[in-house]
Amino acid sequence: STIVNCEPLKELIRTVPDFPKPGILFYDITTLLKNKAGMAQLIDAFAAYYIDKEIDLVLGIEARGFIFGPALAYRLNAGFVPVRKPKKLPAPTAKVTYDLEYGSDALEIHLDAIEPGQRVVIVDDLLATGGTMQATVKLVRQLGGEIAGIGFAIELDFLKGRAKFQEYDVFSLLHYD
Ligand code: AMP
Repeated sequence: STIVNCEPLKELIRTVPDFPKPGILFYDITTLLKNKAGMAQLIDAFAAYYIDKEIDLVLGIEARGFIFGPALAYRLNAGFVPVRKPKKLPAPTAKVTYDLEYGSDALEIHLDAIEPGQRVVIVDDLLATGGTMQATVKLVRQLGGEIAGIGFAIELDFLKGRAKFQEYDVFSLLHYD
């Protein structure tokens, strides 16, 4: 597959100090998404990585996984499945609760969203501690999906979230230290 140098995309990502709270440096991808060439390169790079991996479904995690997940699914001739915050999905769901710095959160998926053995790529905008993705991995396993890949636009290397996914193929376009 084609290896594309994505480093120039970093110039299109806006960093916002102290959002949503003091001490957090927020990586804002809206400035990348609105850029014509940037948007194309983002999706092209993901598509190049996954095109030969026989992907059946792209799973996007609410909310920013919903932005580029469907574009990637379209390019892979795959379906798209939303993984959502509690009480948003209308039909029967599987639910997983996970710990945050303060308190906990939960994610849900429709029980019939994945057929056992289907090859799934899970995408989100950013890998920090990996807690969000780990919860989603549990949902996919509960439903019998095969995790063919885990993809992020951005990975914060210093948080070592990747260590939670050693048995999986983790692909991130851009790395920050
Ligand atoms: P984590 O579960 O710790 O890996 O956090 C990942 C989730 O939180 C993703 O859905 C991100 O969108 C969001 N997130 C965490 N840290 C940041 C950050 N520094 N900038 C932007 N989004 C973040």
